[in-house]
Amino acid sequence: MLEFDKLSLNVPTTTKKRVVIIGGGFGGVNVAKNLDSRDFQVVLFDKQNYHAFWPLLYQVATAGLEPDSIAEPLRKLFGNKADFHFRLVRVTGVNPVEKSVKTLIGDLHYDYLVIAAGSKSNFFGNKEIQKYAFPLKQMTDALNLRSQLLQCFEQASITRDPEIQQSLLNFVIVGGGPTGVEMAGSIAEMRKHVLPNDYPGLDFSKMNIYLVEGLDRVLPPMDPESSKTTHGYLEELGIEIKLKTLVDTYDGETVVLKTGEQIKSQTLIWAAGVTGSMIDGIPAESIERGRILVNEFNEVQGLTNIFAIGDIAYMKGGDPAFPNGHPGVAQPAIQQGERLAKNFGQLVRNRDMQPFRYFNKGNLAIVGRNRAVADLPGGVHLGGFLAWVTWLFVHIFYLIGFRSKLVVLSNWIYRFFTYQRGTRLIIRPFVRKDDKVAQEFLVKNEMV
Ligand SMILES: Cc1cc2nc3c(=O)[nH]c(=O)nc-3n(C[C@H](O)[C@H](O)[C@H](O)COP(=O)(O)OP(=O)(O)OC[C@H]3O[C@@H](n4cnc5c(N)ncnc54)[C@H](O)[C@@H]3O)c2cc1C
Repeated sequence: MLEFDKLSLNVPTTTKKRVVIIGGGFGGVNVAKNLDSRDFQVVLFDKQNYHAFWPLLYQVATAGLEPDSIAEPLRKLFGNKADFHFRLVRVTGVNPVEKSVKTLIGDLHYDYLVIAAGSKSNFFGNKEIQKYAFPLKQMTDALNLRSQLLQCFEQASITRDPEIQQSLLNFVIVGGGPTGVEMAGSIAEMRKHVLPNDYPGLDFSKMNIYLVEGLDRVLPPMDPESSKTTHGYLEELGIEIKLKTLVDTYDGETVVLKTGEQIKSQTLIWAAGVTGSMIDGIPAESIERGRILVNEFNEVQGLTNIFAIGDIAYMKGGDPAFPNGHPGVAQPAIQQGERLAKNFGQLVRNRDMQPFRYFNKGNLAIVGRNRAVADLPGGVHLGGFLAWVTWLFVHIFYLIGFRSKLVVLSNWIYRFFTYQRGTRLIIRPFVRKDDKVAQEFLVKNEMV
């Protein structure tokens, strides 16, 4: 059993101000990167040891990219930064009175605390759906989903029961936002270009992809024109879109829609919403709609020296152009991280902090090859090839690290010419549903 210094987590004592950051995502990394080591000791906690580029997660889930091409180890990212300390640990709570952060292996005192813990899938209290659906929020989700998709085709190719085969070939994606649209498009392209070669005995005209959205259009956060273009692209790829439709229940076998319609499916992909990854110790008055209320400086309402940024933060009324808070995308998290680091610099010099103002650089979404949409500043809307190329360049540009850029780019070039997906590997215990002995073994050993 390893012994830890429980009071300090082996972080050296310091005379500088200590900034503790919870979460090494888009927000947290940009605070840490922009803090001056001469003024601050920086301690970063994350429950995973890498920073991930979530916008490309769907490509891991659909066998287009390997996980390590969209992630960078946090220790590597900050290898050259002085007085920077990373601890791989889950934060369990904060104590604003003692000014300490609680983790599973001990507590640490902070001068300034930054909560950048992001968000998690929101199942809106439906435990049944939570139990059986496949979310897409973490790297493990993407790998699990990739295995699930491939396992369905393996099983569909050997079953003699047409009903079971159909339920293996029905894929239901819930949520018509960017993640749902990208997943649907990517699976449809697999159906067209990849799967018929791998499974020559399977009739892929029987494979159905359903996209279920509660509102009256896909891509609700984008301009209606982009939604309309995207709707057309999805239909061209043979995706069945169900708008103004909600899912009622799912028992792992049958998706029941609120309309009463039932779809037999082994795979329900949940991309229908997120809520903040809340940390214990934040008073209830400082939380609204699952996120932490902050002022224009990202300071948590009612607390001192505690700040929240990114997906978990709700800047209600703080930014005049965004009175209802910022969209839950990467740019607000990045820009809030940068602004907050500068504001910490102001604080140690006893100067006033500057309020955060979000600069919207535009929104992009991709359906597939030559099919993408872009809402750019100035009311410019792009579609088709131009938006697709813009999407490719923006994503390469924002990927962290030269190695990731190179790996992803070479992967895309290979795919462009061959239509192939290189990582069609099932990496999880392969167990048939009717293999009771193996099922029991997995449950007993907590492997499912
Ligand atoms: C599948 C998917 C696709 C997306 N596509 C796009 C897109 O195309 N464009 C776009 O702009 N945005 C996209 N987003 C949204 C974007 O990724 C988020 O808005 C952004 O990551 C928010 O940054 P953040 O720093 O708040 O959180 P994150 O980047 O999620 O980082 C949070 C970090 O906190 C850590 N953490 C959480 N809880 C704890 C804890 N208790 N203890 C320790 N560590 C903890 C997590 O491990 C994680 O590393 C997508 C998100 C997903 C999931």
